[in-house]
Amino acid sequence: MSRIAIIGAGESGTGAALLAKAKGYDVFLSENGNIRESFKAELKAANIDFEEGSHSLDKILNADLIIKSPGVPDKEEIIKKVRAKGIEIIDEIEFGFRFLKGKVIAISGTNGKTTTTLLTYHLLKQAGLNVALAGNVGESLARKLATSNHDWYVIEVSSYQLDGTTTFRPDIAILLNITPDHLDRYDYKFELYIDSKFRLLANMMPTDQFIYYKEDPVLSKEMQTRKVTPLVNTVSLKGDNVSQAYFDGVEMNFKIGKTTFSIKQEETTLKGPHNLINTMAAVSAACFAGVDINKIKSGLQTFKNAPHRLESVAKINNVEFVNDSKATNVDSVIYALGSYSAPLIWIAGGVDKGNDYDLIRDQVKEKVKTLICLGKDNKKLKDYFSGIVPSVMETQSVKELVKMALKAAAEGDVVLLSPACASFDLFKNYMDRGDQFREAVLELKVENENTIAS
Ligand code: ADP
Repeated sequence: MSRIAIIGAGESGTGAALLAKAKGYDVFLSENGNIRESFKAELKAANIDFEEGSHSLDKILNADLIIKSPGVPDKEEIIKKVRAKGIEIIDEIEFGFRFLKGKVIAISGTNGKTTTTLLTYHLLKQAGLNVALAGNVGESLARKLATSNHDWYVIEVSSYQLDGTTTFRPDIAILLNITPDHLDRYDYKFELYIDSKFRLLANMMPTDQFIYYKEDPVLSKEMQTRKVTPLVNTVSLKGDNVSQAYFDGVEMNFKIGKTTFSIKQEETTLKGPHNLINTMAAVSAACFAGVDINKIKSGLQTFKNAPHRLESVAKINNVEFVNDSKATNVDSVIYALGSYSAPLIWIAGGVDKGNDYDLIRDQVKEKVKTLICLGKDNKKLKDYFSGIVPSVMETQSVKELVKMALKAAAEGDVVLLSPACASFDLFKNYMDRGDQFREAVLELKVENENTIAS
């Protein structure tokens, strides 16, 4: 029996350990931080040897194969030692793939992965296909494979995961966009990050389908020079009618094989131009997977995105409250502002990572009537937008925030929490910020209804 050592015990490391054990390997899991209690319970139940707080070289360097969690960088001492010894190192996705019997739809890109993955999964699931969701969203692929077999796997893959693949081959792959991100992991060389994303296509066959967003400047440039084996399908926002999926300003049009059809964004639950790209990519993938158009159309009407992404929380006095707490940079706020035509009460602020507000100046001037800053230090935001936005306020209390927003809003306005900043000054993370916002809005809604009733 050969021995597998796994470095890092997050969702993917734990999943890899469970799968390796289920396949009869001698497994050792090593985590130099702490392992989550629920994972430890699972490892014990499966009789898997593990350690936390250190990496025991003698138990790792005698392995035949190393599975590395995507979060562990190559610079780590332990990885250098494994490489020096010449032991094969792969990612959990690669390990899982070696046991996978169904077909794979893999989704990557710098932004929009989760939305597109969840939507693609929903479209297949609603149509009755035997499909599993895996990867960066929800459960790891290895964990899924440890307990079940599906006909289809819809997998969100990050660049870190792709770095550790050698035979991974999607039947259908989506690349949404590539913008500079995580460059610390790639020696600050953008080309290396781009190469990493293109690993998605490395093993694809001439009959496989590749879908990408044509107007992404990096993707369009790369596609001119790279040798790409699978069939290529493009998604266009600019009405490019030779694309397999294109938006003509009114509706999304699809020409997939011999099938043509159109869908309006109002017939979907997603808003904003970025979600047109995500929807066109997901619908194309679902078509290639053989999902019937009517089922796709009904799936688009019942899709519920992950929270904190332009999540419509509630309407109070006909004012819609939207939680876009995941928008932690200016890029995301561009899309959020572009998603609404109603006057906005915009809530922003937190830890500024060097934001360039010039990028949203015009949109904010046109649409925002009140800015409420929600951060410990709001000076930069206040200084920049005073004079651009008619009214600028600030608070550090979420309860007070939602009351201020409702007071500032007129019927038909939208209150948009799209902070452009990280959340660590006042909150644990963006999810905590979004959860507190949602809770405060729902409380205010009840209070408001009680006042009207009494
Ligand atoms: P990821 O999983 O890649 O982080 P998400 O689907 O969680 O992507 O979306 C994160 C944020 O990225 C969203 O709040 C939105 O602002 C932005 N976004 C979503 N889709 C796209 C896209 N296709 N292009 C650019 N930005 C996008």
